[in-house]
Amino acid sequence: MERIHEILENVKTVGIAGHLRPDGDCIGSCMGFYLYLKHNYPELEADVYLEEPKPVFSYIAHMDDVFHDIQGREDMVYDLFVTLDVSSKERIGVAGPLFDIAKKTVCIDHHVSNHGFGQINHIRGEISSASEVLYNLLEPDKIELEAATAIYTGIAHDTGVFQYSTTSPDTMRIAGELMKYGFNFSKIIDHSFYEKTYVQNQVMGRVLAESIMLQDGKCIVGYMKRKDMDFYGVTGKDLDGVVSQLRLTQGVEVAIFVYEFEPQFFKVSLRSNGIVDVSKVAVFFGGGGHMRAAGCDMRGSMYDVINNLTAEIEKQLLGE
Ligand code: AMP
Ligand code: MN
Ligand code: MN
Repeated sequence: MERIHEILENVKTVGIAGHLRPDGDCIGSCMGFYLYLKHNYPELEADVYLEEPKPVFSYIAHMDDVFHDIQGREDMVYDLFVTLDVSSKERIGVAGPLFDIAKKTVCIDHHVSNHGFGQINHIRGEISSASEVLYNLLEPDKIELEAATAIYTGIAHDTGVFQYSTTSPDTMRIAGELMKYGFNFSKIIDHSFYEKTYVQNQVMGRVLAESIMLQDGKCIVGYMKRKDMDFYGVTGKDLDGVVSQLRLTQGVEVAIFVYEFEPQFFKVSLRSNGIVDVSKVAVFFGGGGHMRAAGCDMRGSMYDVINNLTAEIEKQLLGE
């Protein structure tokens, strides 16, 4: 696929979905695609499915149109179903069953761990974000302010505000093109990326204070147990950014952050500064992601989870 119109031939209905626990790139790419279709193909019926996004993304246009479940639409057979930023079929959020029954399926993504689960797969593992991959499939002169705002949000989030090594000259060029639409990029970045609530800052501080250094200071581990999350009244969404802060500790090669989203069931976030390929570690434990940012879900005691993870990381650190 070179351009998006190639997949729209004879299509009247389109379903769009991102991944579980949608992040900025997932929301930005799904909404960017939705808004692009809405403006340029008004005759198409397009629906977006995403788990409840964080309220900080409410500046993106038409967020109220998003379906958070498939209730009453279980039998909807879309002519085309597109996933964005979804690394494997199991990771399609709420709309998995609709993907299965759709007539044509397309997967647009940038995860190196993605083997391609659509009938058509457009996966560019070297590109910063699904939002950037999407931009390259759109006609630049058909993009307008609303779609541009969403796509810019996705690129800014998945590059850590144009900081990570996946940020390329093309990423910057595209971000520059998008800025021309005149949205308030400073406000978008402050509000959707950096801003934290008081309690989010409190838990960040707590995790950092209790973090442990392993493997001669090359690996740092932060954790939050269920009972502490309940004490502060926080959910996984409130813990975004904690692992990125851990990674910035001097001397650290790998940062691990785990939180207990159900008793004895942990969501694991991994970040690398370059030597260790954390997507391999995540894939080993049934997850996925990128070389420098990956994740998985693991059962067991906190102690076992951390031990198992660090053992896999150590193999890479020792060059085994
Ligand atoms: P996170 O640590 O949640 O910000 O995720 C980092 C990267 O790993 C993202 O690109 C996710 O899509 C991917 N990822 C996180 N958790 C999983 C999982 N359980 N399975 C597959 N990929 C994951
Ligand atoms: Mn994502
Ligand atoms: Mn992404």
